Amino acid sequence: MSRSTDDLPLVRTTRVGSVRMHAIEAGLQWLDGGAMFGVVPKPLWERKIASDERNRIPLALRCLLVEAPGALVLIDTGIGNKESEKFRDIYGVDNAGEPTRLEDGIRAAGFEVDDVDIVLSTHLHFDHAGGNTRRGEDDGIVVAFPRARYVAQKGEFDFAHSDNERIRASYLGHNIDPVAEAGLQDFVEGEAVVTEGVRVIPSPGHTPYHQSVLIESEGRTACFLADVCPTAAHLPLAWIMGYDLEPLVTLESKRGLWERARNEDWLLVFEHDPEVAWGRLDPSEERPSLVSTEGAPEGS
Ligand SMILES: [Zn+2]
Repeated sequence: MSRSTDDLPLVRTTRVGSVRMHAIEAGLQWLDGGAMFGVVPKPLWERKIASDERNRIPLALRCLLVEAPGALVLIDTGIGNKESEKFRDIYGVDNAGEPTRLEDGIRAAGFEVDDVDIVLSTHLHFDHAGGNTRRGEDDGIVVAFPRARYVAQKGEFDFAHSDNERIRASYLGHNIDPVAEAGLQDFVEGEAVVTEGVRVIPSPGHTPYHQSVLIESEGRTACFLADVCPTAAHLPLAWIMGYDLEPLVTLESKRGLWERARNEDWLLVFEHDPEVAWGRLDPSEERPSLVSTEGAPEGS
């Protein structure tokens, strides 16, 4: 079990058809295990991911850098460098780098921050969009990828600004508003091709406009699930986070995704699993489970 970022490889690379993609381990956060597993009793979930003395479990902040034919696409950006010490203690944030492990990972994959063409957000929660902006040298907040266009669901952006008490702690304005103010925010609505080989599909429930991302090349497909299924332990349909705003909607999103994943042999990418970056569903198992829990080697 990864309990510190030292245990995590910074970058794992694989291929979907002819498209190379890099899972970047942008750090760890520690969230309440009960909240992560909703109605699942602790004796069941703690066999999958052990908790610490504060009942928290380690979660990856795995981002995906996709070398699509027409654009270098970064999917989600972790937590970034703007939060207070108190915040970092509560959520056990461990992501330091230059300025964070995300940027270190982009360089380790062979690119510079300025090479990123598109920053694609599955949703705008702080652990997915926190690295969209960063704290600069003079303590001001600037966009982290000034040469990129940023893409999000229009509904998600509007929902993030609806500011009710249940969602307020998850959407932090300094992750979202500087991008729009810089004129870099683009929107999609529903299913859309963001660039050749990169398609977003609605997977609502965690938030009403949550989306997952398909990487498609030469008849092969990978799916960056994001929070519709944050870890491999959440593969069973009823293992749904307590954080989800509409758990019964999540249930149906997962049911539909697993059917397609089996039929089309998708490579499933897990954003928060502290061990398993990706895997495929075993078509011979009725319960959703992975064929392999190993990171697939390059070229698979
Ligand atoms: Zn998340």
